[in-house]
Amino acid sequence: TPGGGPRTREEKILVTVRVRPLSPKEQAAYDLIAWEFIDEHTITSKNLTHERPSGPYTFDKVFDLSCSNQKVYEEGARDVAISVLSGINATIFAYGQTSSGKTFTMRGITENAILDIYEHIAITPEREFALKFSALEIYNETVVDLLNRDSGSLRLLDDPEKGTIVEKQTEEVVKDAQHLRHLIGICEAQRQVGETALNDKSSRSHQIIKLTIESSLREPSGCLRSLLASLYLVDLAGSERVSQTNTNGARLKEGSHINRSLLTLTTVIRKLSSGMRSGHIPYRDSKLTRILQSSLGGNARTAIVCTMSPALTHVEQSRNTLNFATSAK
Ligand code: ADP
Ligand code: MG
Repeated sequence: TPGGGPRTREEKILVTVRVRPLSPKEQAAYDLIAWEFIDEHTITSKNLTHERPSGPYTFDKVFDLSCSNQKVYEEGARDVAISVLSGINATIFAYGQTSSGKTFTMRGITENAILDIYEHIAITPEREFALKFSALEIYNETVVDLLNRDSGSLRLLDDPEKGTIVEKQTEEVVKDAQHLRHLIGICEAQRQVGETALNDKSSRSHQIIKLTIESSLREPSGCLRSLLASLYLVDLAGSERVSQTNTNGARLKEGSHINRSLLTLTTVIRKLSSGMRSGHIPYRDSKLTRILQSSLGGNARTAIVCTMSPALTHVEQSRNTLNFATSAK
């Protein structure tokens, strides 16, 4: 609410935390699980070191090591994802340090959202649906089309009606769920390009899938009512790219360690969740936030799944993630 009153459930950002199991590498190193699950909303650090314990932290949901992708979707993303079917823009992010499970989580959310969307289409014969798919990668503030890497670096343009648009971006008309999965597969393969030359590229790049859904209803009166909205599914760069700049001032001068898009996104999310739906929100400070602007804030719905390793070795990064999650709720 612009007046600053209590925000409704719809306006709030849905913030959840997912802790993956110990990886084989962490197990082989006899790493310890550093976190305790109090209930399905609360997580706190175990008393394993002499450090001051952190927590308890409370969120809309906390998913422990045993939670399936389906559960994470149903309780951490579903409501936001299906809002596009009623014409409301939506964004779902995975946020966390590299190897915490962002890609694993976003794949699960994407697959479950596809199933849900096509089921809805099947049971809603009175409406006619049209889906479009596009996908981008942002790396070092360069925007690349994952459906057509050859088009090089894409420019962002300001359209007086549509807001920020990506120039020359490929948009594919989606025929069915299988076709959609095929397009996602192409983008995942494209995301690997350059990975060997720059071996931490995936930890520095953002992947943005955009699904636009339009539907129209033929009413008895003969008039056509149309709904149009976009769902963004975003696999963010590793969050160590922001916490490094925050915790170690020296790194601020080291260009390669700053991820402008991630830093700006965290600022935008903080401002939105503190109730600043109008006011100055620095969307224009990065490519990612410019692209997402119409699907963040305003009437749009947002879900953030914060992913973390359970390991004691990563407790510092996990704490940073939980602090970001706290500032987003
Ligand atoms: P990120 O994208 O954050 O760098 P990944 O999604 O690639 O991390 O996950 C790192 C590794 O951990 C992968 O091998 C992935 O399959 C595995 N993993 C992540 N989350 C889970 C989970 N909830 N359950 C089982 N394995 C997981
Ligand atoms: Mg990843």
